[in-house]
Amino acid sequence: MVAGEPFRMLVDPLATGHCDQWLDLPETSRAGDAAALLDLLFGTDDTLDLVVLRVGTVRHGTASRRLLRGGAKGIDDAAGQTLPGHPRYELIDWRCPVCQTLVWRIHADPRRPPECPEGCGPMGMRRTG
Ligand SMILES: [Zn+2]
Repeated sequence: MVAGEPFRMLVDPLATGHCDQWLDLPETSRAGDAAALLDLLFGTDDTLDLVVLRVGTVRHGTASRRLLRGGAKGIDDAAGQTLPGHPRYELIDWRCPVCQTLVWRIHADPRRPPECPEGCGPMGMRRTG
């Protein structure tokens, strides 16, 4: 597995500011999975413009609606083919009770509930509150 490069196509080099919404994927995720999930996120949440992409422990950068929905080259074959509503992709969103950072994870993620990426502590699942 080549680390980093395919994911770098998904992030916006101009989106360097602070972002409190994260897509946090298991280490085994492929760039195609990430592309599909980002497409799903931007497609279902109209208010979402930026989301930090983290795979395993690696923060690749910030994906932007501008880049991904505006016809970025290179990801078209990865995104969109199986969307919308591919059954593999069920996203659970977690909210930090302290700083309100939001983290999405796929339902099949075997890891424990996430820690807030800002270091506040464990997060709570938003939909079951
Ligand atoms: Zn926090």
